[in-house]
Amino acid sequence: MIETGDLMPDVHDRRAPRLLPCPSCDLPDRVESVPAAHLGGQHEVREPDDEGGTRRRVRHSALSAALAPAPPEPVAGCSAPLALLTLFVGTGLLVAGTVLSTKDRLPEVFQGFGLLRWLALPLLAVGLAALLTAVGRARRYRRETAGRAGAEALWATGWYCGRCAVAYLTPRPGEGVRGLTLSEFRAAVWSAGGYGHLADRHPIA
Ligand SMILES: [Zn+2]
Repeated sequence: MIETGDLMPDVHDRRAPRLLPCPSCDLPDRVESVPAAHLGGQHEVREPDDEGGTRRRVRHSALSAALAPAPPEPVAGCSAPLALLTLFVGTGLLVAGTVLSTKDRLPEVFQGFGLLRWLALPLLAVGLAALLTAVGRARRYRRETAGRAGAEALWATGWYCGRCAVAYLTPRPGEGVRGLTLSEFRAAVWSAGGYGHLADRHPIA
């Protein structure tokens, strides 16, 4: 049975929120909680990786992504693999070149291999820059979303009506329920976490 009516007195109230009818159509039958709508629109897929194996990735429907409580984590892109590859090759060349340059008598085929260490330097520089880029992105994301718990506390009180495509928040006592566009809902939730400014960088298509 669908329960309606009783409003949750505060977002920090630990009781399970009761379903609120949509403020737009005044009906509850197409309403689900925002966490349910978000989680229901994500699924795991397997896709080939660069090493011939498979990796798991979570994909979101457009609605699930729009109702996310925080921006997506930065993807490593090519920074991390490029860093690992160039650092590995660069270190190898540096070691090999250094060792070979210390040998007094080398077979003719190895003559000149000591110069490899000079080739290693630009590779190591590129690898270090790529590594710092990847680490910097991850650290900036953690710093910007440090208040995510506050955003999720508000997010958990949200509702979504599939008929009207509006979201709304469980109001505090004395407040009315107001339908929000998904962009307005995102801005309200992300602002509660201290990263509302990021909503502009992640517009909802
Ligand atoms: Zn509705």
